[in-house]
Amino acid sequence: MAHLPCAQAAAMIAGHFGLAALVKSRERAVPLWSLMLATVWLDIVFVPLFLAGIETIEPAPGTHGGYGAGIIHANYTHSLLGAILLSAILGAACGARWGRQSGLVVGLVAFSHWLLDLIVHRGDLPLLPGNAGHLPTLGFGLWRAPAAAMSLELALVVAGAWLYYRAARSACLAARINTSRAAWVAALILVGGTAVLALDVTGVLG
Ligand SMILES: [Zn+2]
Repeated sequence: MAHLPCAQAAAMIAGHFGLAALVKSRERAVPLWSLMLATVWLDIVFVPLFLAGIETIEPAPGTHGGYGAGIIHANYTHSLLGAILLSAILGAACGARWGRQSGLVVGLVAFSHWLLDLIVHRGDLPLLPGNAGHLPTLGFGLWRAPAAAMSLELALVVAGAWLYYRAARSACLAARINTSRAAWVAALILVGGTAVLALDVTGVLG
């Protein structure tokens, strides 16, 4: 089956979405969709660079690709400095629209993508854009233990959905409106996140 390698870079996508829901439960002023966008912002910018051949993916030695088995040369979008700059740009754009506090939250959430990727990536994250200076590249490589990486993603989805539900429910109760919407959105986060993870793991996305 033909590979869609750009999806491999988004292999942590369910975990990132889980984190978005978790942040939403604390920062209610920021729209959930903007937090979802922020968590995968670096991967969104990655796609055109990947299509242009500027950022690339290769199967890790001894693997055929698939969940967590890629060495990702996202040397601009996923360099530490590049991630900081891209997060700052998104944060500034959201801040101009929704105020400073929301902009700061969106910027930090966008940068959290890099920190989560740092846990799972196989030592392929450079410090400077274009891997300038050929400094050491980073990544703790949790993807080498796929079951552990999957568990981390699932835990983020479940925790995010649960905390979102609790926060949204109490907001509905305070406003004396029906709490069923909170339950529906939380269920969507849970089912959607788990489905994305399942597709990712079974290789339908990868
Ligand atoms: Zn990424």
